[in-house]
Order: sequence, then C-alpha cells, then structure tokens
Amino acid sequence: MANIPYGRQEISQADVEAVTAVLNSDFLTQGPAVPAFESAVASYCGAKHAVAVNSATSALHIACLALGVGRGDVVWTTATTFVASANCALYCGATVDFVDIDPLTYNLSVEHLAEKLALARQTGRLPKVVIPVHLCGQPCDMEGIHALSQQYGFRIIEDASHAIGGKYQNEPMGNCRFSDITVFSFHPVKIITTGEGGMAVTNDAQLAKHMRLLRSHGISSTVTDMQARPAQEIWNYQQIDLGFNYRMTDIQAALGLSQLQRLDDYVAKRHAIARRYDESLATLPVTTPWQHDVGYSARHLYVIRLNLSDIKKTQRQIYKLLHAAEIIVNLHYIPVYRHPYFEKMGFKAGYCPEAERYFGEALSIPMFPTLDNSQQAQVVGALRTAIES
Ligand SMILES: *Cc1c(COP(=O)(O)O)cnc(C)c1O
Repeated sequence: MANIPYGRQEISQADVEAVTAVLNSDFLTQGPAVPAFESAVASYCGAKHAVAVNSATSALHIACLALGVGRGDVVWTTATTFVASANCALYCGATVDFVDIDPLTYNLSVEHLAEKLALARQTGRLPKVVIPVHLCGQPCDMEGIHALSQQYGFRIIEDASHAIGGKYQNEPMGNCRFSDITVFSFHPVKIITTGEGGMAVTNDAQLAKHMRLLRSHGISSTVTDMQARPAQEIWNYQQIDLGFNYRMTDIQAALGLSQLQRLDDYVAKRHAIARRYDESLATLPVTTPWQHDVGYSARHLYVIRLNLSDIKKTQRQIYKLLHAAEIIVNLHYIPVYRHPYFEKMGFKAGYCPEAERYFGEALSIPMFPTLDNSQQAQVVGALRTAIES
C-alpha cells in the first residue's frame, strides 16, 4: 500500500477465525455473539447495559428517541463534529443548534454552553438533550457539562465515536457517570471495528430496554410488555412501538469481541505514535494537539493546525501537496452548520467563530496502530516539504 490513509483498521488472524466460526455456526444474526459483545463492552466500560446496533448513527438515533426527543424539542451539539451527531435530532423531528468549541481542546466549550443556556432560558428554548463529542478521543469536560445539566434540566448523550479505550478522571469512557447514554462507533477508521457497527451504553435499565425495542422494529417478546388480547390472539411477540431494523449481526459482533481484546494495546500504540509526532513536528509551524491532564485520550485522530501566518501556502495547497505525496490527510470537521443542508435552515458562516478558525487550519494526519516508524517519517517529511518548498 503506497498511500498512507489518515486511519485504517487492523485485522488479525484471530479476528478472521472469530468471524469464520460464526459463518460456520447456526446464527449469522440474533445469535449469541451479539449479547457476548454487549456484555464485554459494558464490563470494559463499567456501564450496566449495552445495546449493539448497526452503526453509531443508529445508536444516536435510538438514544435520542429513548430520551423522548421529538417534534418541538431542541438538541444541541458541538459545531465541530461529524454530521451524525446532529442528524440524530433531525430524524426525531427536533431542531438542532450548535455550541462553539474550546480553542485548546477543540471540544464543545463549556463557557460557551453556559452562556448559550442562560440566553436560551430567557427565550424559553432550552435544549432537551446536549450531545458532547469527545473529539479525536479527548474527553470533554463532562463534570462541567453535567453540572449545567443539573442547573438547566437537559439530558446528556456522549458521542464517544472516537473515544472507546480512553479514560476520564481515571475511569473508562462509557461508564456514563456524567451522562444518560454513551455511544460508540465501530466503523473501520475508529478505534476498534465491526465493519459497520455501533453501541449505546447506559446505567439506566429503562433506557436500555427502550433502545433494545427500537433496535428491532419496536417488537417485544416479553409477556409483561404485551397488551392484553383474547386468548386466541396471543402469540410470542407484539409490536408495541415504532422501531427500526438497526440490529448488529453476529458476524460483526464476533469481529468486535475479537478486536476488543486488543483495544488497550491499540490505544497504547496510538499514544506512542502521538508522542513521536509531538517531537518530530515541534520544529514546524504547526500546532500539535493539546491534551488536558484529567483525561487519557483514545487518540483516534491526530489533528494539527497550520500556523498559516508562518507558512507561505494555504491550507488547501498543503492538503493537495500531501495527497500528491500519497499522504491521505483529511479534515475533521467542516462545522456541521456550514454544510448546505444546514445552511438552508438559516445557519450562517461565522456562527461559531472558534470552530471556523479551526476549520481553516486543521488537518488530520495519519494515525492508526499499524502506522510504522518509516511511514511516520514519510508523513513528517512530506509535511515539511509541503510547508517549506
Ligand atoms: C464516525 C462518527 C459517527 C458515526 O459513526 P457510524 O458508526 O459511521 O454511524 C458519529 N459521530 C462521530 C463523532 C463520528 O466520528
């Protein structure tokens, strides 16, 4: 592989064997691998319940529904995230609004959140749910966000799509100490993969039960959940809510369970790569990722900011030069409200100034556990050439 992507999966022989075992078994879906993967993730994170689904996007959707998000409600998320963190609210018929980022961590700014909440209280437009995103794996200030949720009465879904394997205040991401639900993604560029897949974890049995129902058509086989019917009409299941087919297959779950065994090793390797980048980029006019000391990032992405006043090229030129050198850098992210679909709702350029400044300078350079020293040297060399040539 000549191209060096910004992220990629690693598949071991053990993964192949785990998947093959499912292919040779009785159940490709709705078998034992899904609950096994769910309890392994729940126990890894220290959460009571886990609901596996076919993507983090689906997990965010059913998380919003389980928290009662619907028409007339407002959901807030950070401006700098993947569109799925906002779309989940729109799927429920709610509206979405954006909080600007902290210029140091690039996560949702708690100061901006506090100001925006004070204003929203005056106009009667407080959010029902706030969705902080642990960008690049770095934990948000969950204690601060949680304190505001107590003051203003909103619920919290952590979008931890980048963050499985990380820690906050020395405890695993996903323990939901400061939130109602935490969502993980298992897309191949993320920390561990199931091909496509996601999971919602929570400590609330009712939320878990509701999300399980929504994951599979709103159909229940639990007798006590079913409506009374004449004896001849009673079967082993009833649809009692409107749900979806968001199920994860056993093929995916087996891959996930096998990958989970290497999660800590993956994150440790990402940290070693980050340390090497921090050192080798120190002499270039770029800002390397700042890390706060109450968290241990999963290091999903390594985002640099170009100090453009010291570089005689534009961000786009650097991006193109790196692609020409087969270093497939990417931009995470365009502020969500700057996408045409959101601009049609009335959001304007400049709405979140810090997110826009970041957008104008950021590049994600290759970061994945199998990135070797020589590839990493190649990335740094290409970046130096792009900046200095
Ligand atoms: C990848 C990602 C998602 C969506 O994950 P899928 O599993 O692909 O649906 C949601 N939020 C963030 C922040 C992501 O990076």
